[in-house]
Amino acid sequence: MSQVHLLGFPRIGAKRELKFLLEQYWRSDVSEQALQHGVRELRQRHWLLQKGAGVDLSPVGDFSLYDHVLDAQILVGAIPPRFGFDAAKLSLAQYFELARGNASQHALEMTKWFDTNYHYLVPEWHANTTFAANPAPLLAQVAEAQALGLKAKPVLVGPLTLLWLGKCKGTDFDRLSLLPALLRSYQALLGALNDAKVDWVQLDEPILALDLPAEWLAAFHNVYQTLADTPLKLLLATYFGSVAEHADLLHSLPLAGVHLDLVRAPEQLATLLQGWPQGRVLSAGLIDGRNIWRNNLSATLASAENLRQQLGEQLWLAPSCSLLHTPVDLAQEVQLDVDLKSWLAFAVQKLNELKLLKRGLLQGRDNISNELAASDFASQQRRQHPRIHRADVSARLATLPADSDRRHSPYPARAAAQAAWLKLPLLPTTTIGSFPQTAEIRSARAAFKRGELDAAAYQQAMKAEIELVIRKQEALGIDVLVHGEAERNDMVEYFGEQLAGFAFTEYGWVQSYGSRCVKPPLIFGDVARPQAMTVAWSVYAQSLTPRPVKGMLTGPVTILQWSFVRDDLPRSEVCRQIALAINDEVLDLENAGIKVIQIDEPAVREGLPLKRADWDAYLAWAGEAFRLSCARVDDSTQIHTHMCYSEFGDILPAIAALDADVITIETSRSDMALLRDFASFAYPNEIGPGVYDIHSPRIPAEHELEKLLSKALDVIPAQRLWVNPDCGLKTRGWPEAEAALQRMVTVTQCLRSKL
Ligand code: GLN
Ligand code: ZN
Repeated sequence: MSQVHLLGFPRIGAKRELKFLLEQYWRSDVSEQALQHGVRELRQRHWLLQKGAGVDLSPVGDFSLYDHVLDAQILVGAIPPRFGFDAAKLSLAQYFELARGNASQHALEMTKWFDTNYHYLVPEWHANTTFAANPAPLLAQVAEAQALGLKAKPVLVGPLTLLWLGKCKGTDFDRLSLLPALLRSYQALLGALNDAKVDWVQLDEPILALDLPAEWLAAFHNVYQTLADTPLKLLLATYFGSVAEHADLLHSLPLAGVHLDLVRAPEQLATLLQGWPQGRVLSAGLIDGRNIWRNNLSATLASAENLRQQLGEQLWLAPSCSLLHTPVDLAQEVQLDVDLKSWLAFAVQKLNELKLLKRGLLQGRDNISNELAASDFASQQRRQHPRIHRADVSARLATLPADSDRRHSPYPARAAAQAAWLKLPLLPTTTIGSFPQTAEIRSARAAFKRGELDAAAYQQAMKAEIELVIRKQEALGIDVLVHGEAERNDMVEYFGEQLAGFAFTEYGWVQSYGSRCVKPPLIFGDVARPQAMTVAWSVYAQSLTPRPVKGMLTGPVTILQWSFVRDDLPRSEVCRQIALAINDEVLDLENAGIKVIQIDEPAVREGLPLKRADWDAYLAWAGEAFRLSCARVDDSTQIHTHMCYSEFGDILPAIAALDADVITIETSRSDMALLRDFASFAYPNEIGPGVYDIHSPRIPAEHELEKLLSKALDVIPAQRLWVNPDCGLKTRGWPEAEAALQRMVTVTQCLRSKL
């Protein structure tokens, strides 16, 4: 019998139960016992739900109280020595200190899990890191699953992926030197799992979808030869990309099974099937674990039938990757448009799709004819629905002249036209957009959304906020002002709510890290802008002051990157549609006299594909989309962009190709190291390196600001240097925001007088 399984399930709970439990525990509102009881219930509910959907092997160890990469570090007994904790005796309080920091130690660093929006805690490797298997936490969950009568399949981050994801600390050394010791702890873990009477163990090695150095690839041989010395059956899971180039390597490893992501990389199948080892299980990831669209069952069943002909009992069915990256249950959505809802599937629905596939495969298509018909109907309706396909949008894109993503003149001519009216001093000061989002602002917005505050009263409240922000900036002596973004809940949602082609769920939460979740908008159809989105607020702000006020928009790549995107068009096309909608707004702002406009693109870098070979194509369309969004503006209109991350590395040419007149970036945390990259690359336009870190309430000292600014002046000519904080100030309180900005302005004025 073909097996159905899954690599992992969302932990957060359909109603974000885990989030609320964790936060109550952190506030000491509930006991450790209550927390443990709550999470055990959540795990059991999820397992039983999976069982009900016909899942044969229950994943165990995919659940985590904070992060599965942190859990893996504890299982191999390698937690940073700076904490002074013993992994084998780790208390719950200590577990959370690793994740969230304590009075004397900062938390483990956090970074994105491959190209997802999930953040894992980065292991810290030292040349003398030691390992000691600590299987107890995993064994406890295996026992829980077995007590429910389930066949437990433990899920572990594979040793090479765990090693790769960690960062070297202290003296320079090669992480691979830690492998022999790490491997021994994995052997011990497998030994303990074998004693616990499990049959299969899943080892996740998603790094196989990256560009790996030869030594790392070679290491796979030794690692899996060694680990295979166990009665357990090992399933090696790959996902997020193709592993076709490693077909020979994978075939040669003594594995009982391999999982392939056939949604992200269906084309890898043909290569991998050639020479597929006799008796090896292929876990076919056929249901999209990264997106929320309903599966086209007939098409997927056809692929599964085809595979079954070749593989027989060795074919398993699965989602493409862990369902961690999808929301939990569509059934909770009562406000979604019914047609749209019929095109979607969240984690629970995806399990049901698997169940149907299995039935169709084993008992024949007739056995699921109603479900196939329903799925066909949904696919067909989605393909033709008028809310999805707008003739005006496709016509506009089809008739776009070839050079429509170019400004009228090159930067030097534009800079002159802008200087002529802006008349800014050297080292102009500005901020990134948002000012403190106070409790009053939030409650006014919430009351307006609930219908308790009428539109006029809400407008009044926001206008008062804008006026306050303008007056404060004037008093501080800032040169280019902002309106403060009080009316915005979130920089993507605010625009998505006003654009055609977007929809929002009530419970479509996805874990970002720990207890934090995001609720990405759904881009389901052609994107267009029915009416101006920001013009009235910006015009009001500008009416209050003779100083220039920046219009503030979110760029097309960032809107795309932070949404669930339709899968019936290439992402590049969806991005161009968004770009044209933003361009409409840019031109309306310009028309209304707003002649400095910032288009934020903090997500450009995180959109980079996993493989370098795909970078150029991505950067080409992402860059085109940004330029399209600010096309056709007058030379005298100044376009800013903002990006807040510090590793531009080798994408600087692509950043320069955006051709923004001014770019503001995050640099204070890297001590301006990044600016040197900009300088050595000879970045041609204006730059505003963030001179202080807004992520902390700390007010920078004047001498620190001065030092950073002088460093900046060493590498960037004063004529092209701006002065600003690292990012928006919405998470800060007014007292520290004002104090820090005051110092920033004072130091700038002092430096200016010496130039
Ligand atoms: N304009 C936005 C703000 O200031 C930018 C936020 C961001 O870069 N993430 O809040
Ligand atoms: Zn930022």
